Amino acid sequence: MKFLFRIAVLSLIVFFAYRLSKVHTNGPQVDPEMESYIAEWKADMTNAGIDWVEPYKRIKRIYFYNNSDDRLGYSTYNTNEVWVSSSLLRRDPYLLRASLYHEMGHFVFQLDHSSGIMSDKSLCDNDPLYYEKNWQSILKDYLEKCKASKANIL
Ligand SMILES: [Zn+2]
Repeated sequence: MKFLFRIAVLSLIVFFAYRLSKVHTNGPQVDPEMESYIAEWKADMTNAGIDWVEPYKRIKRIYFYNNSDDRLGYSTYNTNEVWVSSSLLRRDPYLLRASLYHEMGHFVFQLDHSSGIMSDKSLCDNDPLYYEKNWQSILKDYLEKCKASKANIL
């Protein structure tokens, strides 16, 4: 009987742990300083006819992180978090935008490193205004990648 009780308690714990893991249905908690960039990303997605809502809701938190390495951003399914380096707040807003879009491309559309925004290294190292000068064309390329993503269909 004690054994059955333990199984019942264990089942309840597993059930509630599972329910808790599915709680983030209203979308992520977004850092206030990040909100305008996220609003822009959503508008770009919507204007391009890309369905971003469901995969976006899986994100738990989007924030600025005070990292000590030279990484510009990071996203992980382990904790469902997306961050960009707080060092970008002191740099070109287009680099910040590109870094955020890059991480959103990984998380929401499962894009890997190829070209443009999804390139694995900053394209403004040689030309500090690269993203600002080329934003419309690299955004167009990025939106096509998001549209073509299989993750978008799911
Ligand atoms: Zn990346």
